[in-house]
Amino acid sequence: MSSLQTESTRGPHHQTVPAEDSGGTSSPARSDPLTDIEKLLEQSVAESTPIHLSAKNIAKNYFRGRHEVPVLKGVDLTIRKGEFLSIIGQSGSGKSTLLHLLGTLDAPSSGEIWLENERIDNVPNRQRDVLRNRLFGMIFQFYHLLPELSVMGNVLAPLMIANTTFGYLRQRREFRRRGQELLELVGLEHRVKHKPRQLSGGEMQRTAIARALINQPEILLADEPTGNLDHETGTEILEILRTLNARQNLTIVMVTHDHAIAGQADRTVRLEAGTVVNV
Ligand code: ADP
Ligand code: MG
Repeated sequence: MSSLQTESTRGPHHQTVPAEDSGGTSSPARSDPLTDIEKLLEQSVAESTPIHLSAKNIAKNYFRGRHEVPVLKGVDLTIRKGEFLSIIGQSGSGKSTLLHLLGTLDAPSSGEIWLENERIDNVPNRQRDVLRNRLFGMIFQFYHLLPELSVMGNVLAPLMIANTTFGYLRQRREFRRRGQELLELVGLEHRVKHKPRQLSGGEMQRTAIARALINQPEILLADEPTGNLDHETGTEILEILRTLNARQNLTIVMVTHDHAIAGQADRTVRLEAGTVVNV
């Protein structure tokens, strides 16, 4: 499989507009405004696509000492299958909090998280861990790679956690093949044995993307994935995410405070005063 670095493909809801040529320095998907009729077509395609993940009237309070501080105050959000949604908002507005709640890393104070027709915020811990590993891939601003492991080691680490030692060793050839394929997908096949300290920021984030995909998740959650990268490298990472979204119909929820980065998703919402508003 070839590198996706320079690909420029539109998400599943942009089929009414011809795809751009993958000519290298491509512009963001949203650079050509849709006409009225195209907007209507796009809306009807979006509304007929099944709901993948939803937040229903979510509130989240944190305790600061003995004071309960509300961060989210009734968030309603619907994410459709194959959608690429971005969530913008100022620092401290609760973006990471919301992403963690969507990914069942934390529990809401009230409200519900649903995966299709299944409520997932209230399942018992062990079951929720299994569900999370199967459903979600996650990437972060600071990559969170393990420094002592190679690129391949980092990519395979979730499989070592998800399997017994015996199970892992029995399937290691298949797992390594999958790791290799993912590293080719993100354009890192020449860095397999490198350690994180030998990589650039962009290469570390590519490694983190490959790691997030190794368990074949349905939904990728990205928390400020370009927050620590220069503009050009950030754009390359966005190209990888957009191609994954378009080619594999991977549902993506990306949090960012960068409007230009957010604008490359299918749809953007803003977190403001504890609720979500459409942009
Ligand atoms: P963002 O990602 O938009 O910058 P966060 O979701 O990280 O915002 O944080 C939202 C607010 O909640 C901030 O005021 C932050 O200090 C507070 N907060 C986040 N996590 C915790 C926590 N575990 N305990 C207490 N307060 C927290
Ligand atoms: Mg944050």
